[in-house]
Amino acid sequence: MSDLSKSIPKAPRSAVFLDRDGVINVRRPEVEYVTEVAQFDFLPGALEALALLSELGFALVVVTNQRGIAREMMTEDDLAAVHAYMKAEALKRGVRFDGIYHCPHDTFEQCSCRKPEPGMILEAAEDLEIDLTRSYMVGDSLSDIEAGRRAGVRAVQITDGEECGAEMVFPSLLDFALHLKERT
Ligand SMILES: [Mg+2]
Ligand SMILES: [Zn+2]
Repeated sequence: MSDLSKSIPKAPRSAVFLDRDGVINVRRPEVEYVTEVAQFDFLPGALEALALLSELGFALVVVTNQRGIAREMMTEDDLAAVHAYMKAEALKRGVRFDGIYHCPHDTFEQCSCRKPEPGMILEAAEDLEIDLTRSYMVGDSLSDIEAGRRAGVRAVQITDGEECGAEMVFPSLLDFALHLKERT
C-alpha cells in the first residue's frame, strides 16, 4: 500500500443491517428453521428493495439468528447452501451483500451475537468500517429492534401487524427503501 492511500482515510459507510426471515424471505411458521433452499422464498419486492438500498449507497449486511445449528436441526453447511442461493439470486439483480453474519448459538450459551445482543452488528461495523450513527437495523421482531437500539443504529420494523416500538415501521422492506429514496 502506498503512503498516499494510507493518508486518505476511507469515509465510513452507512449500512442497512437486515434480519433475514420475515424481512428478506418469507417466514415459515410450519418449519421452525429454513434448512434448505426449497424453503427459502423471497418476500415480494425484497430483491427490488435490496437493489434500491444498494443504489442509495448503503452497505447491505444480513444479521441472522440461526439457533437451529445449536439444536442440530441443521448444519453450518445447510445454512451456507441457503445463503449461497440468496446471494446468487440477489446477484441476478446486481445486488451484492457486504456481509452475512449468523449466530449459531442457543439461548443458554449467552453469547454476545444472538439478537437482541448487538454483537453481529458491532462486529460487522468494525469489519466493514460502518458509521453506526447513519445506519439502520431492519427486522420483524422485538429482538431485532432491541439489537439495533443497543448497537446505536436506527431501528426499523417490518410488520403488517403488531408494532414493538421501533422508530420507524413499514409493511415491507421495499416500503422502507422507497422511503429512504424519497429523502435523498
Ligand atoms: Mg425475523
Ligand atoms: Zn451467538
